Amino acid sequence: MSVFNFSAGPAVMPKPVIEQIQRDLPSLDNSGMSILEISHRSALFQNIIDEAVADLRDLLNIPANYHICFAQGGGTGQFAAVPLNLANNRRHIALLDSGTWAAKAGKEATRLGYQVTTLATTKDGKYRELPRLKQAIPADSFDYLHVTTNNTIEGTAYHTVPESEIPIVADMSSNFLGENYDITNFGLVFAGAQKNLGPAGVTVVIVREDLIQTAEAVPSIFDYQLAIDKGSMLNTPPTFAIYAAGLVLKWIKAEGGVTEMARRNQAKSDKLYDYLDESKLFNAPAFKPDRSYTNVVFSTNNDELDAVLVKEATAAGLMNLKGHRSVGGLRASLYNAMPMAGVDALIDFLYQFEQTHQE
Ligand code: PLP
Repeated sequence: MSVFNFSAGPAVMPKPVIEQIQRDLPSLDNSGMSILEISHRSALFQNIIDEAVADLRDLLNIPANYHICFAQGGGTGQFAAVPLNLANNRRHIALLDSGTWAAKAGKEATRLGYQVTTLATTKDGKYRELPRLKQAIPADSFDYLHVTTNNTIEGTAYHTVPESEIPIVADMSSNFLGENYDITNFGLVFAGAQKNLGPAGVTVVIVREDLIQTAEAVPSIFDYQLAIDKGSMLNTPPTFAIYAAGLVLKWIKAEGGVTEMARRNQAKSDKLYDYLDESKLFNAPAFKPDRSYTNVVFSTNNDELDAVLVKEATAAGLMNLKGHRSVGGLRASLYNAMPMAGVDALIDFLYQFEQTHQE
């Protein structure tokens, strides 16, 4: 059965990568063992992780003074790991409260005893637009500024990075490798893999060398310096997830790199937003300049009708269009693996739906 999967995660994988995994599964590189069985200390796996790091460095032009680690614990783990490693000078973090995940990051840092100051928020407007800094941040006040580049639930994204005198920590979980950013604008970037990069279970951390502090009370598993020293293998790494992410990185390279992914994502989302804006039934609430290229949030403004749509779409092979449970409505996630044909099929379906369900 062929479907288009509009899920926000986890994980939407390119078809050629799934086919490669199927071919590799019985015996990786003629080893007679599958990726699930080989030792993470074997040369075979070392080669896989080394290539993944090199391909990522290449794809994002990551300079030599940035380290790349594969961690576990997801984006949520990094909500704790980042302050524990980077916020021990002032124990004070600045936050742009752009959505649910930004707020959660702030809450976790507070829970760990760090002071968190929200410099701007759009919570009152249901995060329909992005908060922006109104004045320069005093350079000696905070350890870093936490920014969520793409707000998965609310469907907004920073297409240009906020200007900041202090290092920016970017949660790039839902537009990592799907939108083009200059890594040198950030002190640290993290991303759970399970949107554009691969299966759940691995989290990428890219961190500028000079920001890593000698950690005192950091659990070993969250200690960046230890992760770097041990080549992301302080303990057993998620071998399958790293292997699959490595294949996705090679697929992105073969398809033209992150610039090409970003071009496609923008073209896909533009087409869908254009349709939604013209439609009389649907409404896409995000402020136009701030709209996400990877998560298109919309609705009919009628919960029952949204539910009917999700049911009919599923029957038509258009999967996972239900909005996040916290905001309701509908959401079409257009990650790198979603072809334009999926967007065309969705627009055709929405058009037909509109003809038969006019309010
Ligand atoms: N940050 C963003 C922007 C997300 O979209 C998510 C999950 O979807 C998270 C953080 C949390 O990630 P995880 O489920 O890997 O902990």
